[in-house]
Amino acid sequence: MPADLLREVWGFDGFRPGQQEIVEAVAAGRDVLAIMPTGGGKSLCYQLPALMREGVTVVISPLIALMRDQVRSLREAGVAAGALTSGNTEAETDAVFAGLREGALKILYMAPERLASGATVPMLRRAGVTAIAVDEAHCVSQWGHDFRPDYLRVGELRQALGVPLAAFTATADAETRDEIVARLFGGAAPQVFLRGFDRPNIHLAFQPKDGPRRQIMDFAAARRGQSGIVYCATRAKTETLEAALNAAGIPALAYHGGMEAEARRAAETRFQREDGLVVAATVAFGMGIDKPDIRWVAHADLPKSIEAYYQEIGRAGRDGAPAETLTLYGPEDIRLRRSQIDEGLAPADRKEADHARLNALLGLAEASRCRRQVLLGYFGEDAAPCGNCDICDSPPEVWDATQPVRMALSAVLRTGESFGQGHIIDVLTGTATDKVTARGHDHLPTFGVGREIAKPQWQAILRQMLGRDLIRPDPERHGGLRITAAAHPVLRGEETVTLRRDLVTRARQNPEVRAQVSEEDAPLLSALKAKRRALAEAQRVPAYVIFPDRTLIEMAERRPATLDEMARVGGVGAKKLESYGAAFLEVIAGEAPEPMHPARRALAGRGAGALYDRLEAAARDLARGVDGTEKPLSLSAGVLRRIAIDRPADLGRYLDAARMDRFGAAFAAEIAAESAAGD
Ligand code: ADP
Ligand code: ZN
Repeated sequence: MPADLLREVWGFDGFRPGQQEIVEAVAAGRDVLAIMPTGGGKSLCYQLPALMREGVTVVISPLIALMRDQVRSLREAGVAAGALTSGNTEAETDAVFAGLREGALKILYMAPERLASGATVPMLRRAGVTAIAVDEAHCVSQWGHDFRPDYLRVGELRQALGVPLAAFTATADAETRDEIVARLFGGAAPQVFLRGFDRPNIHLAFQPKDGPRRQIMDFAAARRGQSGIVYCATRAKTETLEAALNAAGIPALAYHGGMEAEARRAAETRFQREDGLVVAATVAFGMGIDKPDIRWVAHADLPKSIEAYYQEIGRAGRDGAPAETLTLYGPEDIRLRRSQIDEGLAPADRKEADHARLNALLGLAEASRCRRQVLLGYFGEDAAPCGNCDICDSPPEVWDATQPVRMALSAVLRTGESFGQGHIIDVLTGTATDKVTARGHDHLPTFGVGREIAKPQWQAILRQMLGRDLIRPDPERHGGLRITAAAHPVLRGEETVTLRRDLVTRARQNPEVRAQVSEEDAPLLSALKAKRRALAEAQRVPAYVIFPDRTLIEMAERRPATLDEMARVGGVGAKKLESYGAAFLEVIAGEAPEPMHPARRALAGRGAGALYDRLEAAARDLARGVDGTEKPLSLSAGVLRRIAIDRPADLGRYLDAARMDRFGAAFAAEIAAESAAGD
């Protein structure tokens, strides 16, 4: 039953990992807390059960724009859904209330603010609400930055209605989880589902900064026409990048927390709707974005922690199609992130934890084995080398750098742990600058010990030492480098240090681009996208509401020639087949397909469709009897459809006496043949 709905309504062939168990638990009316990575397919886990259950499921979701898109997508798929938000027109609100009164609505999206009104609970009770789903359930956590006070009322709503509640979030840490249980479920333990963190379709890559503007521009230019996000550490940088991208002919927008709310919303809407737009943004961008076909995410600056990195790259490729990422980092990033932590107001143990999260990200940046193994390892998952990261693509060369690292540590110590990277390198390479001679550092035993190594290579060594947290900028000494406890075993000769050869030479090469389809299928894919854009614009909906990229890619590759074949493409449900099947077939075949009776179309792509065609042919042959001389008898498409689905042993319940006489034997033979062939 769930699998049938999945096929019929969404056009999906199977569940994503973890979805089925959650769907079954929610449909059975259990209290559920599901933690799934972004893009894991959470929405389906409450939408599908809503169709299986009696009555209305009310969905609490934090963002109006997001709700509206969800409702539009559901309606496109033929599901009776509506939303009550402050963004509604009066007519929209009236239509929702009418739907509720008539018992027609299955899914009602509601902004949490609504819960503040005393009229809401009685209204929902009258409407026959039988389940509650809570999207982005971590918004109930007071300690996260997504806190929404109105979410605290959701627990009261559950109690007042006495119905099961299913909560969904991508935020997995144990504290947030406990808070969700306490506040949404009143402490009564829900059934918890924790889905793995892997997003195998996302390609992972890091590069040290080496002309970062050019690195980002090259990456974006190579992916012209694809939607992407560039995360920047500062507002100013989002604006300069926006200008640079536009000047290079790549349509781009800036987005940051300093913009007016209105301008921010306009940017979100445009990004959501348009294909191939790039947003240069601070981390303020993301929460309001539910675009499944973001093809790439680049970090112009290092994120603040491994968790932030994971969340930000996770916005790419939610549709499951290949997506790419590139994260740039350099010593200035490390200094900036360290000082942000040190200068923050958090208590000391929290600061130490934040340094550790940054260290984990730096470890990932400087990794010498599969990045996905390192990333998943941090989240406690084991994995094999992934074959989809820059290190799997071309493993880095490593070398024993113990000796140079000890030289650098010694230079840091002997200069009193008060100087920055430039000065330390001057001392190591024996460069007698004014600053070096003024402090007498040219008389130190370490002066010039590292002459053999060129300055750029020293920079790479120090960057990697920062990355390993062997040295750290000290906020008390204006960012002068000091040695951490991790460096002591190296200094004592108890540990060796293996570093990567500098990657800068490799970073210069043009980033490799992955095409969405083979060269041969590319023109068809563009044509399908053009059709999608035209349909989306005509209906003023985002392109992916018509079909996601993945569906168009499959169409371009499989080239369905009939509505039956079209119905087998992933993402083509019954309603979408009806709305768009013919239009896209026309793009593929160059001509419109034969029209199909709606009763027959409802069977497209299923075994019953083939049986229907044979029954119809038999009925046509026998319309005037075996010898073609008798009174014409016809059958309605609806009856043919029922017979094709039910395959009755006794046709007498479907056909009157005359028709039984005329068609019964032939139909029985077709049914027997179909059943023998299996479905
Ligand atoms: P989340 O809310 O977990 O980030 P969504 O619910 O938005 O993810 O789903 C992400 C994308 O995956 C959507 O485009 C959705 O249509 C698609 N999707 C969900 N479930 C399936 C499935 N079983 N098969 C194919 N695609 C799916
Ligand atoms: Zn890998």
